[in-house]
Amino acid sequence: MHHKESEKQKPFEIGGVTIEPGTRRTVQIPVSMFPNHTAFNLNVYVIHGRKPGKRLFVSSTIHGDELNGIEVIHRVEASPLLNHLRGTLILIPIVNMAAALIQSRYLPDRRDLNRSFPGSENGSSAAQLAHTFLKEVVERCTHGIDLHTGSDNRINLPQIRCDFESKEAIKLAFAFGAPVILKSTLRGGSLREASEKLKIPTIIFEGGEALRFNDFAIRAAEEGVLRVMTELDMIDAGEHIKGKELSILSPASRWERAPKTGVFQTNCTLGKKVCKGDVIGKITDPIGLHSTDVIASFHGIVVGMTLLPLVYQGDALFNVAWVRDPEKAEATIEEIEEETELNPALGDPTTF
Ligand SMILES: [Zn+2]
Repeated sequence: MHHKESEKQKPFEIGGVTIEPGTRRTVQIPVSMFPNHTAFNLNVYVIHGRKPGKRLFVSSTIHGDELNGIEVIHRVEASPLLNHLRGTLILIPIVNMAAALIQSRYLPDRRDLNRSFPGSENGSSAAQLAHTFLKEVVERCTHGIDLHTGSDNRINLPQIRCDFESKEAIKLAFAFGAPVILKSTLRGGSLREASEKLKIPTIIFEGGEALRFNDFAIRAAEEGVLRVMTELDMIDAGEHIKGKELSILSPASRWERAPKTGVFQTNCTLGKKVCKGDVIGKITDPIGLHSTDVIASFHGIVVGMTLLPLVYQGDALFNVAWVRDPEKAEATIEEIEEETELNPALGDPTTF
């Protein structure tokens, strides 16, 4: 039904390696060297389907401390739905190994890989890595998903960031089915900017926090990747992996900031609605003699928040996404959360 019998899948070339239809393998693409002269490679795992189709990359850990995507990719790879793959899936669980090794968002020279695209062959190590990733992986694909988490002791509700101008990207975003789709303009030097320039629609997933595995974020992304693959006709819709266009669309988000310096407390959690004037937290002095309320300045849904109890005046506390109907949005997000948690098709593919 999807393709004529006559359409035959060709071998897939990447990093100087030829991958035959119906096979999987790891390819090590050289980037540079670590100071002890061990190889600094970009390790990619390629699943090349028996039948032709779209070519999707799923990348994680472009920021070296954002680890949820590694587990997402591990689970996607183990999905039995991939046994009848059409097209090619390229998985890159750790793009930025140099940063991951030092548990840092940035490379050892403090450069941000996600501000270093398109990069260059003879630039900094960030520029070389960006260049290799773009040339060897992104340019061979038709679509992309880049997996991130919150940064700097912040936690994010699972969400897709995408450019509302790109019809194909918004289609992927809805197929993914994360609780929230947030409009996000292109950042200079980001992978998304570089791939959009190449007309390769790419969406960004953000969920959970740095240096942790967060189960809900991982399950939401695993489900999302499989849904996007269904949308792209790379896999059949599984019994439990259905595209449901439930996501809440938000055109903008803004940080609610600390009105005072002190000890920050809140009962507010990710995905909850806030209305203008609501008390969403309080800041006290260390003994608790003086207390200042944190008051919401507009209607929306909490899509990100700080995890730090000690804050300075002006620090970002809650990232609130503006939505038309916060009450309905909160209910929808709860529904998605419940479905994702109860979905028997998702979870750790290894049994301990
Ligand atoms: Zn990131």
